Amino acid sequence: MLKINEHYLKLQASYLFSDIAKRVASFQEQHPDKDVIKLGIGDVTKPLPGACIEAFHTAVDEMGTESGFHGYGPEQGYEFLRQAIAENDFQARGAKITADEIFVSDGAKCDTGNIQELFSLGARVAIPDPVYPVYLDTNVMAGRTGAFVDGRYQGITYLDSTRANNYVPDLPAEPVDLIYLCFPNNPTGSTISKEQLKIWVDYARENKALILFDAAYEAFIRDDALPHSIYEIEGAREVAIEFRSFSKNAGFTGTRCAYTVVPKECMAYDSAGNKQPVHPLWNRRHCTKFNGVSYPVQRAAEAVYSDEGKAQTSALVGSYLKNADLIARVIGELGFDYVGGDNSPYIWIHSDRDSWNFFDMLLGKTGVVCTPGAGFGKCGRGYIRLSAFNSYENVERAMERIRQAL
Ligand SMILES: *Cc1c(COP(=O)(O)O)cnc(C)c1O
Repeated sequence: MLKINEHYLKLQASYLFSDIAKRVASFQEQHPDKDVIKLGIGDVTKPLPGACIEAFHTAVDEMGTESGFHGYGPEQGYEFLRQAIAENDFQARGAKITADEIFVSDGAKCDTGNIQELFSLGARVAIPDPVYPVYLDTNVMAGRTGAFVDGRYQGITYLDSTRANNYVPDLPAEPVDLIYLCFPNNPTGSTISKEQLKIWVDYARENKALILFDAAYEAFIRDDALPHSIYEIEGAREVAIEFRSFSKNAGFTGTRCAYTVVPKECMAYDSAGNKQPVHPLWNRRHCTKFNGVSYPVQRAAEAVYSDEGKAQTSALVGSYLKNADLIARVIGELGFDYVGGDNSPYIWIHSDRDSWNFFDMLLGKTGVVCTPGAGFGKCGRGYIRLSAFNSYENVERAMERIRQAL
């Protein structure tokens, strides 16, 4: 008799986006004349930059020629892309990362989900609340948690991100080994300063722990004082893995390209307490389970680092930031307590209502769709997330309606 991995049965079914869709459909049925504006989406809406499209086309044409055909490429990614990443995203900011520490993949979702399999099932895991749900669910699947009780899994150290700590979690009270951090944060839009990030790096060094730093929204940082990479912090090379993606800076959500940085000095320990470098482990996993991102997609990603590509992606991100600024301004003027909206496409809004109640009220009064905060963790109760991923015209209309109604 074949038995299943019963840890999957502990997972909480996520009805978040299907519940939202149901409530929107029912609203539209009852108010066929009212148009709905979606500010709930975590997906980009604008087309790929011209430089990427051009490189993509050229590479596709190459694939149709004898001399330009590419079969299996290196699992870790082509040298041209790894080199461009190392130079532009790290060395240019003073972070000492080399091309052979970059692993190109088809998504930061897969990488942030898969990374945990390198570590022991006994690893004590710390996960922010609220946050992108992938980190938690993949640890549940692996069997690192107990049951789900009162909105939380037993055995996980939750890092509460609340108004009290300005949405940057404090160090955990109990010892932990594996620490997930996500800045600029999804869903709160909060950022972390160099000083605050240094506290986590120091903690990891002192406790032989490892930080998994998700910087998917790095391109939205416009405040020069904020770190774009954890490797801007002294000592991070030994204790941090960083995840990046072309999804949010260059609109690659449907094209698929991302990368993970594993510095050579990054260490974990075997049961005898000996240091073990993480780089060869991730390399082995990647080569065994992944066969590389397609050649045309890697050429399209490389184009992000051309002069044209840099200007175009900066304009793309800038347009979303303009939306975010408008949302934050109106929400602030209405007297709401909120965070995000600068250095991030998300605005995290507090109210005294339950987050689904807030969602229904907003939809009913304005036809604007948000995301209820409760879908991102227990600390998200009483919050909603508004997203800047829409056209400026739609955001303007949405905010005018919100201004009138609330
Ligand atoms: C969108 C997003 C990602 C990117 O995922 P991809 O699989 O690269 O599209 C990663 N982390 C967070 C927090 C995100 O919001």
